[in-house]
Amino acid sequence: MAIFANQVNKTYQSGEVKVQALRQASLEVPDEKIVTILGPSGSGKSTLLNVIGGIDRYDSGSIKVGDTVLDQLKDRQLTDYRRKFVGFIFQQYNLIPTLTVEENVEVGRELSQQPLDMKDTLEKVGMWDKKDKFPSQLSGGEQQRVAIARALIKNPQILLCDEPTGALDEETGKNILKLLKFVNEQYGTTVLIITHNQGIGEMAHSVIRMKSGEIVDSYENENPVHPE
Ligand code: ADP
Ligand code: ADP
Repeated sequence: MAIFANQVNKTYQSGEVKVQALRQASLEVPDEKIVTILGPSGSGKSTLLNVIGGIDRYDSGSIKVGDTVLDQLKDRQLTDYRRKFVGFIFQQYNLIPTLTVEENVEVGRELSQQPLDMKDTLEKVGMWDKKDKFPSQLSGGEQQRVAIARALIKNPQILLCDEPTGALDEETGKNILKLLKFVNEQYGTTVLIITHNQGIGEMAHSVIRMKSGEIVDSYENENPVHPE
């Protein structure tokens, strides 16, 4: 799905202090693209993902994802939107330690009205043979694969990734990137990735850069590379 953000503002009140996390942020992401979001810590990257994903509200401006305008949605409608269309991947995999791989992915499946097949999804991320393991028995890269499967099984239209390789070594991180690229190509999922990893920037169709809540730069990548 395409994503449009128009002059979005978001302020957090933290005690006496007001922090403007997003300042007139405007963004246009065509359907089926991979976009990376770069910028220093505190520049508003996570806030941008969270408002697009319907985890957070914004103060003014407009956001449209596919045909859904998020501005006036009631909490219930925002939750429905999130469940139906959005997959999230975080740096911390957020798996439930007492559930197996398959049971963790089942959590994602239950949120969806049109879930994908369990076996298919676990095979796509290369974790079918470990479906009965618990998170503590898996490496970081494997746990992230499970987290990706949990997001994917919902058949999301947009996939929002907040530092997905941040906790992984370079080699493992690359494999996760390959998997995200594969998902984008196979399912046509629009993918937004916050990252410090230069390799991701090279793989993306376009790159945006944030500073102090503003989108200060945005450019197309003419030759997105395939991670080797
Ligand atoms: P980034 O992802 O680029 O590190 P964030 O979007 O997390 O940036 O944060 C942008 C700004 O908003 C920062 O100054 C941060 O401290 C502030 N902020 C983020 N979330 C909250 C919150 N829940 N309460 C108060 N301030 C917040
Ligand atoms: P709510 O309690 O508001 O109904 P959900 O049941 O949708 O929230 O989500 C429960 C948990 O799953 C939350 O911690 C949230 O961060 C995470 N989550 C919400 N939406 C998604 C999503 N689309 N993909 C992955 N994780 C999500």
